[in-house]
Amino acid sequence: MGHRKGLKDISGIRFEDLFQLEDIQRLQDEFSAAMGVAGLITLPDGTPLTRPSAFSHFCANVVRASKKGCENCQHSDAVIGKLCVDGPTVQHCLSGCLWDAGAGISVGGTHVANWLIGQVRDESVDIEQIRSYARLIGVDENEAEKAYMAVPAMSQERFSQIAQALFSFANQLSKSAYLNLQLDQHLMEKHRFEQELIASKLQAEKASQAKTDFLTVMSHEMRTPMNMVMGLSDILIESCHDKTQLEQLQRLKSAGTSLLHLIDNVLDISTIEQGEIKIHKQDFHLKRLLEEVASLFDFSFQEKGISFSFRIDSSISEWVHGDMNHIRQILFNLLSNALKFTDSGIVELAAYPNGLQAEIEFSVRDTGKGIDQSVGELIFDKFEQEDQGMTRSYGGCGLGLSISRRLVELQGGKIWYESEKGQGSCFLFSLPLLSVDFGGLRTIEKKRSHLKRQNIRILLVEDSEDNRMLINLFLRKDRVILDMASNGEEALQKLAENEYDLILMDIQMPIMDGYTCTLKIREREKELRKEAVPIIALTAHALASEKIKSLDVGCNAHVTKPIKRETLFEMINEFAS
Ligand code: ADP
Repeated sequence: MGHRKGLKDISGIRFEDLFQLEDIQRLQDEFSAAMGVAGLITLPDGTPLTRPSAFSHFCANVVRASKKGCENCQHSDAVIGKLCVDGPTVQHCLSGCLWDAGAGISVGGTHVANWLIGQVRDESVDIEQIRSYARLIGVDENEAEKAYMAVPAMSQERFSQIAQALFSFANQLSKSAYLNLQLDQHLMEKHRFEQELIASKLQAEKASQAKTDFLTVMSHEMRTPMNMVMGLSDILIESCHDKTQLEQLQRLKSAGTSLLHLIDNVLDISTIEQGEIKIHKQDFHLKRLLEEVASLFDFSFQEKGISFSFRIDSSISEWVHGDMNHIRQILFNLLSNALKFTDSGIVELAAYPNGLQAEIEFSVRDTGKGIDQSVGELIFDKFEQEDQGMTRSYGGCGLGLSISRRLVELQGGKIWYESEKGQGSCFLFSLPLLSVDFGGLRTIEKKRSHLKRQNIRILLVEDSEDNRMLINLFLRKDRVILDMASNGEEALQKLAENEYDLILMDIQMPIMDGYTCTLKIREREKELRKEAVPIIALTAHALASEKIKSLDVGCNAHVTKPIKRETLFEMINEFAS
């Protein structure tokens, strides 16, 4: 039949694998009954697969009673069952007195069975021939003659027509077996493909979870010591009067800021990939934001001898509505690059209205090494740098621009650059920032560097002695009643003995962590129908999922380490004043 195409290896396939023998038996019985012929389906070598249908007494009990007769019958069956593609095989059986016919069943070129019909008396045969055959196989001649005459007779023409019908039937069986097989294989492959897909999805989820876990731990491990470095350098800068030492301390702080920023970028890229990053819009004072970012770089530019300036077009509304933190981060990334890739000249940060689309355009222009034209948009891809040699001379890991692009796009803006090799670069991004008009009522509130209320009772739950010392130093000038606990269990004891206005709760602690402790505090408050004490989670976990978790267990707010003094004061003022 030549249907090989489309089927995988089918060598070794058996008739029983393709058909239900019961169904085939019924088909064979019905065909024999309707046509008045005997029927049997055998393997290609003549071994029967089905039970005989309408076998004549002559064949079943007379001829096959003799060993020789039986062998001859099987031999005849095998001969008429040979695979013939043009039509049925029609011939006399070995006795020479009965008509037999056969058609092969094959699947994808593999011959799996024969459907045989026959035991029809040939009216033209001389009766002497049957007697001599009886002698040959050793059966009684008279009995053989009598049984032979009882076999139904049929004209050769009629028998040929039935054989032709058999041939069509067998072909149809072959075809449907082939289709079934194809369907089976297709279903099996589909199933296998689905299984593979599920397995690889599970593996990817596992890997992604492992990455998140690793980043959470890493962020904790790195942010905790940074907490110390940044906090102490702030305190030292404030109290230092020696010019050289002050400069060294500023350098220390600036290096710390860069390191923290790098940690943030690594965390961000994973949060972005997990689709966890969210846009949080708020009203903010644009000039103040630019000033704040610029002030982080003043010292470093000055140190490199680069003139650094920033200007903001006077027509821009002072207050705008947008994602302040992400804008800060993009500007930080662009300014870090300008600082890194400029050795002399100027760097300018600017913001002006992009009138056409009612957007604000930000730009960071430098007179640095510039970028080759051939690099194009590639520079915005993750881990892409102009050339790898640069990593050695300038550092960096190729994340800043890719993160910036994602953050700009998430806010509905676009980012691009213009550059000439050796002349400098200008990175620009525009964002749809709505102007906020307060009718002149709103003024910039200077960040408070003191607490609004005195004698606030605070419980600090923190296992690290360094951090306890740092927060103590932050609060020492303000009249705060500060109690400490070094894990969740101690905190619960303190709470049973004292009343507090606020709890500062570290998350990762031995014995009982901050999540569990917060849950227990909230349970106890419910039981005793007490007012809920504000709990601020202090944590090195910078992932969005961790922040959500701390809010879920009942914290009122979440502050990521390293904690700045102003942020701590803002929080205390907000929750305990
Ligand atoms: P990183 O600076 O950490 O390598 P970025 O994604 O911020 O990663 O930048 C990717 C690359 O783009 C840099 O390695 C550098 O080749 C090029 N680049 C970015 N900003 C500038 C710039 N201002 N001047 C020259 N090249 C730049």
